[in-house]
Amino acid sequence: MAVVEASNLVREYQMGTETVRALDGASLTLDGGQFVSVVGPSGAGKSTLLHIIGALDVPTSGTIRVDGTDLASLSDDAASEFRRKRVGFIFQFFNLVPTLTAWENVALPRLLDSQSLRASKPRAIELLERVGLGGRTDHRPSELSGGQMQRVAIARSLMMDPKILLADEPTGNLDSKTGADVLELLAEVAHDDPDRLVLMVTHDANAAAVCDRVVTVRDGKIDGGH
Ligand code: ADP
Ligand code: MG
Repeated sequence: MAVVEASNLVREYQMGTETVRALDGASLTLDGGQFVSVVGPSGAGKSTLLHIIGALDVPTSGTIRVDGTDLASLSDDAASEFRRKRVGFIFQFFNLVPTLTAWENVALPRLLDSQSLRASKPRAIELLERVGLGGRTDHRPSELSGGQMQRVAIARSLMMDPKILLADEPTGNLDSKTGADVLELLAEVAHDDPDRLVLMVTHDANAAAVCDRVVTVRDGKIDGGH
């Protein structure tokens, strides 16, 4: 089953009297076990597409199913639960909590799901080992390099074992060698599980080499969506 099935997505923003069409009939089907990058010019609608797939935004029209769930049918509470449990988010600036250690940051999604940090510690340590940071579990973000912080964020995104990871410019704040290592890790994470999709918006020229598929967004439409 496809992890993402988007059909004819339109997203309009009202700016005073003007209507901005960020997405203009975007259709896309994506299977699991893949690392897919989304490219295209600035303002093309890439972030809008990612936000709709992550249930952070809703389309003006069109249909969107992610991991078997029709996102349009979700109440606000259900959408927030969907985001917490079913999607992993990875950001350009990592978004780690500075006062928490690496393992506590990784365990945070469980805390938000009413489970104690301590109970989640073994799993958090395991995930940090998975991303090559078994020796940094008690470090705080300020004691880590940019690449290490992004690895912590990737471990955190896996805490709830989601079928979809969404990354918006995850290497945008890293040097090219560190960025290439992070891309390699994201590819491994996608290929670890035949049901898991890693979907990444990027300008990184190295991405095409490690991604299984590249989709291009242009003027709110998708080339190569199927
Ligand atoms: P990209 O990520 O490809 O650079 P975006 O998805 O951020 O593009 O934006 C697509 C278009 O929609 C742009 O013209 C942008 O200005 C507009 N847009 C995005 N978000 C909003 C918003 N919240 N309000 C109004 N216009 C928006
Ligand atoms: Mg963007």
